[in-house]
Amino acid sequence: VFQLSVPLNFLGSVYRELRQSLLDMETLFNLQKVNVAVKNKADAKPLLLTAGELKFENVTFGYRPDRPILKNLNLTIPAGQKVAIVGPSGCGKSTILRLLFRFYDVQEGRILVDGQDIRDVSIDSLRKAIGVVPQDTPLFNNTIEHNIRYGNLEATDEQVIEASKRARLHDTISHFPDGYGTMVGERGMMISGGEKQRLAVSRLILKDPPLLFFDEATSALDTHTEQALLSQISSILKEKKRTSVFVAHRLRTIYDSDLIIVLKAGSVAESGTHEQLVDRAGLYSELWSAQETLFSDEVEESSKEDTTESLKP
Ligand code: ATP
Repeated sequence: VFQLSVPLNFLGSVYRELRQSLLDMETLFNLQKVNVAVKNKADAKPLLLTAGELKFENVTFGYRPDRPILKNLNLTIPAGQKVAIVGPSGCGKSTILRLLFRFYDVQEGRILVDGQDIRDVSIDSLRKAIGVVPQDTPLFNNTIEHNIRYGNLEATDEQVIEASKRARLHDTISHFPDGYGTMVGERGMMISGGEKQRLAVSRLILKDPPLLFFDEATSALDTHTEQALLSQISSILKEKKRTSVFVAHRLRTIYDSDLIIVLKAGSVAESGTHEQLVDRAGLYSELWSAQETLFSDEVEESSKEDTTESLKP
């Protein structure tokens, strides 16, 4: 019985990990279920990542074919640049990231990574090349340390701590009852939305993927922590010359991007740098003026830290 129970326990834990990582991916993009229609081609090759250029060519896509969300979309995310996608709610910003991750296939047109149609490369190799910081990071029922190390299971303790320092999480963790050994997730300590977001950034720093996506990744942070974390992220991206895509509502968080793409109803309305778009006096400039008024009100409130939830009873 003893001999049997060991492998069964082991299988059980493998199963739980698998289930949890699927859960991770699903929650990552707020999906109800991963689309089963996306499959590897029989002759799928591993993605050959060179510079890291992403391109949408005449892409039309809808979650239901009769309701297109992206309409004949053309855009290029140049290699090594920090690019932001902005636009009104529901215009398809997060959909662009989901398509790049190949959770769905396009109905028309194609998506290229360094010139390769993503339908021709293996899904695994594509997803390995991408790191995502989602709006809401799923946590494993495990320690903080395990949750960070998930980004790279081979990372040393020092690397875990270094990543958490760079993501401005280390000092917070030091105040937790068991430090890095503190249990989080459903059965552990509840951590705040802002702490979760910094944890997701720590994971990403450890994973160190060539392509990085941030989907409203810092929305739960107070203005001060957000600015500090964003400048830290920017310097890492610059230092490593990574291609990154930021989906954001608050233009304050992305105005220093190399390129800003403004979407409207599933097509590109305009694109350029912040200065170019403000000069153009179009949709971006309108959104910017409206938010700047809001922002000056917010700054007065910004001395508040993001609220840390208390320990679960
Ligand atoms: P927001 O800024 O509000 O996050 P967004 O620009 O990122 O919006 P998407 O999340 O890309 O917008 O969604 C675009 C449209 O597609 C929305 O109308 C949304 O309701 C719809 N949509 C998103 N996910 C699904 C889904 N899984 N099934 C059906 N419709 C969906």
